[in-house]
Amino acid sequence: MDYKKLKIYFMENIAELKQLLSMPKDIVILSHRNPDGDAIGSSLGLYWFLKNQGHKVRVIFPSEYPAFVAWMPDADKITICDLEKEFAMKCIAEAQLIFCLDFNALDRIDPMEEAVEKAKAQKIMIDHHMYPEGFADFILSRTDTSSTCELIYTFAEMLGQSHFVDGKIADCLFTGIITDTGSFKYNIFPSTMRVAAALLERGANNDFIQEEIFNSMREKELRLLGHCLYNRMEIVEELNTGIIWLTKDDFEKFDIQRGDTEGVVNFLLKLKKVNIAAFIKEQPSIIKLSLRSKGDFSVQQVATKYFKGGGHKNASGGYFYGNLNACIERFKKGVKSQLELEKST
Ligand code: 5GP
Ligand code: MN
Repeated sequence: MDYKKLKIYFMENIAELKQLLSMPKDIVILSHRNPDGDAIGSSLGLYWFLKNQGHKVRVIFPSEYPAFVAWMPDADKITICDLEKEFAMKCIAEAQLIFCLDFNALDRIDPMEEAVEKAKAQKIMIDHHMYPEGFADFILSRTDTSSTCELIYTFAEMLGQSHFVDGKIADCLFTGIITDTGSFKYNIFPSTMRVAAALLERGANNDFIQEEIFNSMREKELRLLGHCLYNRMEIVEELNTGIIWLTKDDFEKFDIQRGDTEGVVNFLLKLKKVNIAAFIKEQPSIIKLSLRSKGDFSVQQVATKYFKGGGHKNASGGYFYGNLNACIERFKKGVKSQLELEKST
């Protein structure tokens, strides 16, 4: 495989980074807006890995994380830029090193984009999405990886320091692997299983994590799922596509909080006839899309071309300004064009 062509970066200058990390540093770890299990798992995993070696480390997210990851050690110490903007900017300006985890385009950390661009710190990107931007001094970017959490363990190995991964770190990293692979159902590679095995050996508690992530729903979330499936689902047979949408009113009526709709999009793919799925949420000033597919169809292309977004071939996201119906129509049009394009090539 020609990894250069795929834009896979192995961080060939890692010796330089290892040297930088050999002395205590002031480090900021950033991840993307609406952080998921992989974002928080990789951030807190790396946080403990660096903190245990004497660095001063702060994790900053643009927006709040969902309740199902609040159990992670020191989750409550994470700075949320939406809530503490000035402090977040100050930390970024003063940092010596900035790790950018689970994202590869600076618009994913808005409103910190400019601060990171201007920061004097050296920047390190560790990520598994397609088409990385070149803003970092050190890049470990591999699409042939399940998750950023898997890559953090690989990074520890590359530094020759995987022995510093203790049970607490292993729990954080194992979480991102299971959330980004749906508990080893998709997007797994031989390396994923090797890293997962190593994390179990280092003390990751699978039973505990599975319960916290997958069996911790509140009643209102399960009722909301029922509403989505019964009242807000459309199947477009000729496109093998399923759509679930939620209106602003739904958000109020069901008192929907961050993370409450996690995983809803995947139910559409349970239908044999559905290969392409969209979950479309009407938020106060923006409409957010979560896209998924089975097989060869690239929702990444649809997200990039029609919704200023991106991600992976089978899991992407994007956003839209306008009304909900217009967004749904645009999605259908985008899928149709992409299907025609894929058929002709
Ligand atoms: P989710 O649907 O779970 O929010 O996101 C699925 C995937 O798409 C994730 O890998 C995420 O990083 C990516 N993604 C979601 N929203 C956006 C977006 O607005 N822009 C880009 N570039 N990627 C996104
Ligand atoms: Mn991820």
